[in-house]
Amino acid sequence: MTHVVTARCHDCRYTDCCAVCPAECFYRVEDPAMLVIDPDTCIDCMQCVPECPVNAIYADTELPEHYSVWTEFNKTLVGIGAMTTTQGEAHPNHVDLAAVQARETAAGWTPVEPENA
Ligand code: SF4
Ligand code: SF4
Repeated sequence: MTHVVTARCHDCRYTDCCAVCPAECFYRVEDPAMLVIDPDTCIDCMQCVPECPVNAIYADTELPEHYSVWTEFNKTLVGIGAMTTTQGEAHPNHVDLAAVQARETAAGWTPVEPENA
């Protein structure tokens, strides 16, 4: 098992998540602009999940179908990312949870929140 950052994180970078991770799992990626989790170091402590303002982080076992590809994407994107543990400025294009849910609904998906958010 691991935890997975999904497309909900695109253009966020509130970065509340990485500041609480005890295992230095978060990597900053520039394209897409987001953070991802290293599945080889994540200890599934769940501390990051409620910190994310847009509920972008799920356990891989509870990923909604529309985000199922993100387990593999996190694994791949870690390789081009830079490890980060410090909270920084949000991306200028960041949106709130209501906007993320509206985006998913417009795509024909039913928004699903992480169990531990
Ligand atoms: S707080 Fe959530 S949306 Fe923001 S960088 Fe972390 S995982 Fe991404
Ligand atoms: S579940 Fe825990 S170990 Fe895994 S990324 Fe989140 S805070 Fe880090």
